Amino acid sequence: MDFTEKWFGLGAAERALQEEAAALTASVADIAAEADAMSEIHPGMREALRASGLAALMVPAEFGGRGAQVDPLAVCLVREVLMKGSSHLDSMFALQGIGSYAITVGGTDEQRRHWLPRVASMETLAGLALTEDNAGSDLKNVSTTVTEKDGELVVHGEKSFISNAGAADFLVTLVKEELDGGPALSLVLVPSDAPGVSTRPSPELIAPHVLGDVSFDGVVLPPQARLGVPGKAMSLVLSTLAVFRVSVAGAAVGLATGALEEAARHARTREQFGRPLLKHGPVAQLLADSWNDVEMARLLTYQAASAAREDARGALNRSSMAKVAATEAASRVVDRCVQVMGRWGLVANSPIERYYRQARPMRLYEGASEVLKLGIATTLCAEVGPGAAR
Ligand SMILES: Cc1cc2nc3c(=O)[nH]c(=O)nc-3n(C[C@H](O)[C@H](O)[C@H](O)COP(=O)(O)OP(=O)(O)OC[C@H]3O[C@@H](n4cnc5c(N)ncnc54)[C@H](O)[C@@H]3O)c2cc1C
Repeated sequence: MDFTEKWFGLGAAERALQEEAAALTASVADIAAEADAMSEIHPGMREALRASGLAALMVPAEFGGRGAQVDPLAVCLVREVLMKGSSHLDSMFALQGIGSYAITVGGTDEQRRHWLPRVASMETLAGLALTEDNAGSDLKNVSTTVTEKDGELVVHGEKSFISNAGAADFLVTLVKEELDGGPALSLVLVPSDAPGVSTRPSPELIAPHVLGDVSFDGVVLPPQARLGVPGKAMSLVLSTLAVFRVSVAGAAVGLATGALEEAARHARTREQFGRPLLKHGPVAQLLADSWNDVEMARLLTYQAASAAREDARGALNRSSMAKVAATEAASRVVDRCVQVMGRWGLVANSPIERYYRQARPMRLYEGASEVLKLGIATTLCAEVGPGAAR
């Protein structure tokens, strides 16, 4: 399929990156289905990602990465290619950035020098632990605490549905503490082998994912384990989302593209009532509507990622729009593609069935659609400003 890259005007560097990601995806094609069925790290997939060197995109060059800064458009383009091939590969790549970016923007030099080169080389796996049983979209509700005792930090609490938990070597963890007489949110960098840290698998999802619940049972850490300014956690969390939320849109575009290619191949070759499915108007409409959805989502995604490249925090609303548009489009597209493929769309663990299941969580994590729409609508009304009095 001739996509919009050439109309969007991606440069040689971006095209080379897409080819690099495509080479990685091709090299793991044989193990993609097996890895996507796993809720633990697939060693072969980890080795392939390590050998590709692509994880270095997640870290600034100064600390062993590639570009001077983490580039949201580069991350987005790579995720688009990887997700089409394997959701396991895509999330392993994404988590190296999502889990480490707070260190990049808020860490001390010592923290950066210690962790970031290891993240870039994949020697270390990263994780970001925000969610708890009673704190999903509403992160202010976290109840994991940090307290200071005898000059050390003590962390208590439980996190749930944390990607890479059990595999990650550290978790950037959102905690609550009393500061200046009131509750405040802070980040601490918890090495997974610290005494008192334990993990267990989260409930198995319809689309398997490396996911765990984590207990912090009086974990004692040095004061240097603080990440960023006490009480200012949300600033670092927002910086992370500002770079990586749009990359979920990139992954959704890749997934939708993969599903559409499956359905288009089927519609060309399968005949019913004496002609290919493609020649039946309603089927053609399903395909055409889906291609429109994919191309619109891709354009908004690239536009948002390019804006984030210039000013990630300033472009956060556009990233939210791209994330909502692309993940909702991916769900619509993959549902139509299953319909085009008839019973073949329902065969367990076939590529189309995997896409069907994998599309669903994307509308919930890194900002559920409804929550993002609240922010988008609020920004719209603020930009339009007050109207004339009626
Ligand atoms: C595959 C996967 C990987 C994940 N990885 C991580 C991870 O690495 N780290 C981590 O910290 N968390 C992770 N999570 C958790 C994820 O971030 C949460 O699931 C997400 O934030 C939504 O929270 P929730 O599931 O508790 O839903 P809820 O917040 O309970 O929301 C339920 C529904 O209510 C809607 N809703 C909630 N509040 C509002 C509102 N104010 N207005 C309108 N609608 C609203 C939501 O849109 C949603 O439809 C992961 C989840 C999944 C599925």
